[in-house]
Amino acid sequence: MAKPYEEMHLLPIAGQWREGSGKQDLTVKDPYQDQELLKIRQANREDMDAAYARANEVQPDWAATSPAARAAILYRVVELFDVRKDEIIDWLVRESGSTKMKAEIEWASARGITLEAASMPSRMHGRTMASNVPGKEHLVYRKPLGVVSVISPWNFPLHLSQRSVAPALALGNTVVIKPASDTPVTGGLLIARLFEEAGLPAGALSVVVGPGREIGDAFVEHPVPSLISFTGSTPVGRGIARIAGGGEHIKRVALELGGNGPFVVLDDADIEQAVAAAIVGTFLHQGQICMAVNRIIVDASRYDEFVERFVAKARALTVGDPAQASTAIGPIINQAQLEGLQEKIAKAKQEGAKVLLEGEVKGQVLPPHVFGDVTPEMNISREEIFGPLIGILKARNEAHALELANDTEYGLSSAVFSGDLARGLRFAQRIRAGMVHVNDMPVNDEPNAPFGGEKNSGLGRFSGDWAIAEFTTDQWVSVQHQPRKYPF
Ligand code: NAD
Repeated sequence: MAKPYEEMHLLPIAGQWREGSGKQDLTVKDPYQDQELLKIRQANREDMDAAYARANEVQPDWAATSPAARAAILYRVVELFDVRKDEIIDWLVRESGSTKMKAEIEWASARGITLEAASMPSRMHGRTMASNVPGKEHLVYRKPLGVVSVISPWNFPLHLSQRSVAPALALGNTVVIKPASDTPVTGGLLIARLFEEAGLPAGALSVVVGPGREIGDAFVEHPVPSLISFTGSTPVGRGIARIAGGGEHIKRVALELGGNGPFVVLDDADIEQAVAAAIVGTFLHQGQICMAVNRIIVDASRYDEFVERFVAKARALTVGDPAQASTAIGPIINQAQLEGLQEKIAKAKQEGAKVLLEGEVKGQVLPPHVFGDVTPEMNISREEIFGPLIGILKARNEAHALELANDTEYGLSSAVFSGDLARGLRFAQRIRAGMVHVNDMPVNDEPNAPFGGEKNSGLGRFSGDWAIAEFTTDQWVSVQHQPRKYPF
């Protein structure tokens, strides 16, 4: 057994583990126990400048490291994911209120993307091309971007940071992470420990813990980073795109934002399988997942059958202590989120949704809430929920189901159930979303498949070849082999 990492209150800034130079401490809490886990002295702007400056300084040497040497560090991180599995899962449970099941899934996703990233140094291909100019040839180099900023949310902190950090580093960039204030350890500090232990050069990865609202703008408008890889809510993402694309220093943005995923059950669906998928897709991690089922749309002819089975299954879910292996629904991340969800419940009732299942809040644990007779105008249909509540809508037929599914500003993940795979596939192709799963839940993320959204759900794609494109740039170099004839 490896000795657990110690001194988790220290920040890796510009190659050194030290306290932040800010004036305020951040108290990190266990959302289920309502206990303090640790206090972190936060970083200030000078710390951020130092982190960026060092990342910029060491990046050329890191990019010049052989592909095999970079891959070896990534493979070592994969090994450490295995060696330190219990420690990582324990942090996920305590810091982000993850149930054991969700923590296992997150651990596996973060490990999986690291393994995928380990193959990227040797997949970074350029091209040569013929030129139309006599005696010239074109060389197109694929190059790292330089310094990449990673801003991540609290819901899948380890995976959502790592899915940017691992490919970015593998491809020769250096990185500065700003994790969410609820999850500085799993969203950044733990990742930095793993890379340090694996032998990443000092300063190639820094973690700046500080309030998004205070250092966020400076973090984004800073002249050093070439790409802001942001995962979080649509309103914050919109602000980041504005600063990064319209500020003094134009830079790339990769935006993975909110969702309002439809889960469509057509008249020929296997209802038992659809209910099983909808339950996990709705309630995994208390519904705090961007890809979660946000609206269930059921063909009118199967509505009653679906509702009866769905409510029975939701009622039977184990709710409470996330550390217990059988718990399906643990705590909401913080009090403010919980209050927001309670407002959404009150609003659904006020707007006339039929309460099919409800329950009492205990501490920060909100049991599943299910609403029927939901209409597309209701708030619960229009907004991203991000909690263990769900509304069920009735569709007149397939065309109406499609209209309802697409009636949203978002377009992240979605799902459709049909007994006819060709019909399911045709339906999937007409959903305006980055990801659609036929006969499965919408919560899917694999290291080799393009992850990302359309419409207000974001810009860009993660994983596999798409991550290689996202975290690199092309440089066209032409070589004039023979003297060129100029017109004057
Ligand atoms: P959030 O937008 O409030 O915060 C995300 C991150 O941005 C945090 O690290 C926060 O500190 C930081 N931040 C806040 N204001 C900032 C600013 N002005 N400048 C720079 N950084 C700033 O989101 P959240 O509440 O942490 O996460 C939930 C949201 O994230 C949901 O909307 C969810 O759908 C979305 N999400 C999307 C994906 C995806 O892959 N598309 C994945 C997970 C979560």
